[in-house]
Amino acid sequence: MVIGGGPAGTTIAPILVEKGYRVVLLEKAVHPRFHIGESLLPANLPLFERLGVADQVKAIGMEKWAAEFVSPHHEMLQRFNFAEAWNKSMPFAYQVKRAEFDDILIRNAEKSGVEVHQRCQAKAVDFLPDNSGAVIRARHDDGREQQWKARFVVDASGRDTFLANRFKIKHRNPKHNSSAVYGHFSGARRHDGQAAGNITIFWFEHGWFWFIPMQGDVTSVGMVTWPYYMKTRGQRSIRQFLMDGIARCPALAERLKVATLVNEVEATGNFSYVSERNHGPNYLLLGDAYAFIDPVFSSGVLLAMNSGVIGADAIDTCLQRPAEASAALERFDKLMKHGPNEFSWFIYRVTNPIMRDFLMHPKNIFRVKEAVLSVLAGDIFGNTPIWRSIWIFKALYYAANAIQPKRAFMAWKRRRFNIRRHDDAMMNAV
Ligand SMILES: Cc1cc2nc3c(=O)[nH]c(=O)nc-3n(C[C@H](O)[C@H](O)[C@H](O)COP(=O)(O)OP(=O)(O)OC[C@H]3O[C@@H](n4cnc5c(N)ncnc54)[C@H](O)[C@@H]3O)c2cc1C
Repeated sequence: MVIGGGPAGTTIAPILVEKGYRVVLLEKAVHPRFHIGESLLPANLPLFERLGVADQVKAIGMEKWAAEFVSPHHEMLQRFNFAEAWNKSMPFAYQVKRAEFDDILIRNAEKSGVEVHQRCQAKAVDFLPDNSGAVIRARHDDGREQQWKARFVVDASGRDTFLANRFKIKHRNPKHNSSAVYGHFSGARRHDGQAAGNITIFWFEHGWFWFIPMQGDVTSVGMVTWPYYMKTRGQRSIRQFLMDGIARCPALAERLKVATLVNEVEATGNFSYVSERNHGPNYLLLGDAYAFIDPVFSSGVLLAMNSGVIGADAIDTCLQRPAEASAALERFDKLMKHGPNEFSWFIYRVTNPIMRDFLMHPKNIFRVKEAVLSVLAGDIFGNTPIWRSIWIFKALYYAANAIQPKRAFMAWKRRRFNIRRHDDAMMNAV
């Protein structure tokens, strides 16, 4: 049983069918539906091949060949071309409207033999004694109730965190605390040629913006900011709050000079959390159902899909070779933590002025630039040789902090101020 038909659920479900299992997938919404998370990574592409959807994604995707950073303190744009990463075989990714992308994935799951029920929300799960499986109860939108008995439950319910809520094992991330306000624009100024689809990250005094060009003159723009700044919204609509924020970032405002909003602005408060565990004897938590940290490196969809691939292997081992189950689940756990751990080191520091200097003036000594680019490309699983250079990059960063103690201290103090908690009721009401 798979709960949730986003990237995690629609990846694991067809792979399990391929391995010979009967799989039921429940999705409370109906695709196509809006979802945030539009910029993908080069490391997603082999997963599209694996699922057999590469051509369909190519047809709806805007090619993204680089990630760019624009800093108000450096008055320049720094471009990181994925083609210059350590592994030269992953030079680009796509940016997609998630309504279209997720629709491709769920239709692919159905075509592959997954029994898909849309407009059907999982409501309860009872785990049976002796680890013999679980009974899942769900309600269809038309009011019908239905239940299934399953040997294994996969929670891929995204930020709804279906199982983590029931187990009470979900915790806000004490090291991070951020919110986002976002909308789609038409008429945004793009670069020429191949660079037209590059993602641009614009830092501003209260956080950063994403600028994500997609097909058909639609550009997604999002402001990621700290709770204290969200609190300054007052009586303004979130639309106005976003527009006012853009006005505070002249480099972005310039690219949106003649652009117009084409959808309702949305907001997501306090999105950083992690669950205490990601598995039990007959259940797994995948993708956002387990953890989410921050969107700055566009890693969410990759981590969700990758969790589907490794989750399918773990379940197969548990069901076919029970004696090896605990080793398989331990391996799954290690891989599930690897992505968030590697990305979070960069995420927690990306608004730090010393890290900003590093990103705006990258040097390739000991191949550190290539290695960091590999992280930006999502190439962090498997036998990649980047880790020595990443370690050197981190050592250089700590050394730069040590020789600028006052600046490092001010940055630490500022970060503590930024991530401190605010009234949740207010934050979630945006
Ligand atoms: C502001 C913001 C910006 C982001 N930007 C990016 C980005 O640029 N690139 C990127 O890669 N990632 C980004 N992400 C992260 C990305 O959105 C997620 O990591 C990704 O969608 C996770 O996939 P998933 O399959 O785990 O969950 P989801 O995509 O959320 O899918 C979960 C599905 O489960 C369904 N569901 C929930 N509860 C139930 C239930 N009880 N019964 C049945 N169905 C249920 C939901 O309807 C949903 O369709 C961003 C996130 C945020 C908050």
